[in-house]
Amino acid sequence: MTRAERQMQFLYALRSKGVTDARVLTAMEKTDRALFVKGHFADRAYDDMPLPIACGQTISQPSVVGLMTQALQVNPRDKVLEVGTGSGYQAAILSHLARRVYTVDRYKSLMAEARKIFTQLDITNLTAFTADGSFGLPEQAPFDRILVTAAAEDPPGPLLAQLKVGGIMVLPVGQSDSVQQLIRVARTQTGFEYEELRPVRFVPLLEGLGKD
Ligand code: SAH
Repeated sequence: MTRAERQMQFLYALRSKGVTDARVLTAMEKTDRALFVKGHFADRAYDDMPLPIACGQTISQPSVVGLMTQALQVNPRDKVLEVGTGSGYQAAILSHLARRVYTVDRYKSLMAEARKIFTQLDITNLTAFTADGSFGLPEQAPFDRILVTAAAEDPPGPLLAQLKVGGIMVLPVGQSDSVQQLIRVARTQTGFEYEELRPVRFVPLLEGLGKD
């Protein structure tokens, strides 16, 4: 299969799973997932499945990345926080949609790899930090949009606090390690509105920094 054919099939699969937002599809078309998948899994980069990355973590399934990005309703002027950089794939996609993206991961080594790719892709509106993202990024807050790509029992308080009025946060929540609910939280003048989107499966949001 040629690269163009693979790309067509990739986009077709996204559409068939409900990713229909044109801006999201274009951002995903511009972001070659193969760059973010290393070693012997690289040839599965265009399959719609999660794949292992370093530190026992995973790069999410493309259709889930697409649906989460779509649910986030990012505007071109938005300042976005992503918690859980992992491979950097989701952050790179967000960088095409937002004015400014901040992404954090608790593993230094994952961050180092992701930063190399951001530099290689010449992405200039993205800043990556090694930090415990459950506390958000107080120095850069508040955010128009927050995307969490690891599952917590409940939306972390600091993240709710760092969301602007009119802002949206998308995150997986739940007690179980195997299945969580993807939810969308909208901050209004008076409080927060919660909406359940679909069941998903993510690695847990853990406290503190990772060892590697
Ligand atoms: N968005 C990533 C996939 C995320 S996998 C991608 O596109 O590839 C989930 C990531 O969340 C892992 O890399 C894990 O290290 C990170 N993570 C878990 N708990 C965290 C925390 N408290 N703060 C920051 N990152 C965290």
